[in-house]
Amino acid sequence: MIEIGKEIQTAAYLFAGILFILSLGGLSSQESAKRGVLYGIIGMIIAIVATVLGQGVEGHIYIIVAIAIASVIGILVARKVEMTSMPQLVAILHSFVGLAAVLVGYGSYIDADTQTLAGSEHTIHLVEVFIGVFIGAITFTGSIIAWGKLEGKVTSKPFLYPGRHLVNIILLIACFVLGFLFVGVDVATGMTYLYIMTAMAAFIGVMLVMAIGGADMPVVVSMLNSYSGWAAAAAGFMLGNDLLIITGALVGSSGAILSIIMCKAMNRSFISVILGGFGAVAKGEAKEMEGEVTSLNYDAVAQLLKEANSVVIVPGYGMAVAKAQYPIYEMVQYLRKEGKDVKFAIHPVAGRLPGHMNVLLAEANVPYDIVMEMDEINPDLPNTDVVMVIGANDVVNPGAQDDPASPIYGMPVIEVWKAKTVIIMKRSMAVGYAGVENPLFYKPNAEMLYGDAKDSVEKIMGFLKG
Ligand code: NDP
Repeated sequence: MIEIGKEIQTAAYLFAGILFILSLGGLSSQESAKRGVLYGIIGMIIAIVATVLGQGVEGHIYIIVAIAIASVIGILVARKVEMTSMPQLVAILHSFVGLAAVLVGYGSYIDADTQTLAGSEHTIHLVEVFIGVFIGAITFTGSIIAWGKLEGKVTSKPFLYPGRHLVNIILLIACFVLGFLFVGVDVATGMTYLYIMTAMAAFIGVMLVMAIGGADMPVVVSMLNSYSGWAAAAAGFMLGNDLLIITGALVGSSGAILSIIMCKAMNRSFISVILGGFGAVAKGEAKEMEGEVTSLNYDAVAQLLKEANSVVIVPGYGMAVAKAQYPIYEMVQYLRKEGKDVKFAIHPVAGRLPGHMNVLLAEANVPYDIVMEMDEINPDLPNTDVVMVIGANDVVNPGAQDDPASPIYGMPVIEVWKAKTVIIMKRSMAVGYAGVENPLFYKPNAEMLYGDAKDSVEKIMGFLKG
């Protein structure tokens, strides 16, 4: 096997690092996202090749076999996964990063080469190991619980018990004390300390995510993304691998920035989300639903659309489940040809992962210039004739604005009820992800259209053309 020199490897790492930064830049807008992904793929290939061919790497055959097996599994899983299950996949992948950081930590601690380090170099290495394993263990178990919650295997309701903050703080202090002792002991005792700390950190990870309610899950997924980045950076320090440090820091900071942006979009405090439980407990008696629920048939909805000049479509998780984006865009094209002003309105946390709706609409080739953000569309809604809410629920819940007892009170929402008529397309009166009733359905200008979103749109289309 060829072996490359340190200089070539450093140059390759630098190049890969630049590609990762360009990749993140590309992912920040829909037009350049594909290019961003491509930069990321090329950067990762360069990084892997430069690492495997680096000096001192042995057992290439095992590495190649492992990469081949993992690639096949990766391709199969990515092909099979539904768009609606993407957050679960991301969560479980984060858990692998966490587990890898724990194993790298153990390996690096018992590695004969690191045993020969002395003085402050030795101390720094031990601190890196301890912190890396700590973050890795939290990321590992936290991500598994996040996966369970998103997959519906673990209740999405927050699990809160009295004194949980105190328990977490005591465990944190215990980890800190162990870390302090860890620096001065022999390898066998040190390993025992590492195992004990891993168990405590794993417990903290479980409890941190168990305490978080369904509506805050997007922030948790992005926060775990950030943790997995820091875990990778810590592993980079342990292995003396600059690229892993750069990549970990990029993932860690971009995940943290995304978490903060999402917290703002949901009017949640970042610190409270991290500590868990915030906004999950109702702050009093929920408001009684007032008014009557009325519904329309396909023919009547088609008639309303024919008479409307302006139409806004608000998609949500149900659109993803029904895979209704294709017939929806067909309907939009038809209405636009009829001279109507038709736009999409996207809530930052609609669906089950950040950008979920944008991805689905892009898949159906919807042009970006008719896709509006929540803040752009809200001022236009009072002058809109018809709003079609397609499989969305929490993101159009007026209780977030006027019911202080609502668990999602304070979350900015798309103010669809301000339009002349709102048509809500879903299969039943069932609640959305956050599990709260929606007073929108009872508003006098709201009409339900029951049924699967895709099926309903196709039927409306039939009446529009007929
Ligand atoms: P919601 O989960 O609030 O509501 C979706 C609605 O779609 C349901 O009420 C359901 O009603 C309906 N639905 C399901 N299947 C179909 C179908 N086949 N046809 C028609 N309707 C269907 O979705 P929103 O997008 O409004 O809100 C997202 C929620 O998810 C928020 O609470 C957010 O915090 C949370 N979340 C967001 C993440 C993100 O990053 N975007 C990640 C994790 C959670 P019915 O059963 O009656 O049909």
